[in-house]
Amino acid sequence: MSNQNRHSEACIFCRILEGKEEGTFIYRGNKVSAILDIHPLFEGHTLIIPNEHFVDITDVDEDVLSEVIKVAKIVSDMMIKNLHAEGVNVMHSTGRPAGQTIFHFHVHVLPRRTGDDTEFEKWWFARSHKASREELDSLAGRMLL
Ligand SMILES: [Zn+2]
Repeated sequence: MSNQNRHSEACIFCRILEGKEEGTFIYRGNKVSAILDIHPLFEGHTLIIPNEHFVDITDVDEDVLSEVIKVAKIVSDMMIKNLHAEGVNVMHSTGRPAGQTIFHFHVHVLPRRTGDDTEFEKWWFARSHKASREELDSLAGRMLL
């Protein structure tokens, strides 16, 4: 299958993959590539992107998604070994309300080090609450797969 089956000339990632825009690649595979984010949250912030244009997680082929996650693991291992990261966040956004700004499926791999940004974790714990058993059971009724 050609890597050009799904392509969008209007898409910055497709143009980077084609070499029409600059990008810093740390990996180029048959299905998936890894580039450094131009707006890094942390030094080494990497994006795993399919070589073909998929909009989001609802659009991406399962075999491509599997490859994205495989590469996210390899990149994570590399960050711990080469960048002395002590942990990683693997993050993805689908849709504008979730913060997606580039509509070519991608997964962020963020190398983390102790104390590098305590605000994120503070926000997480402030935003979340301990759900009741009833709340979870009721919700699960609408979410069973
Ligand atoms: Zn694209």
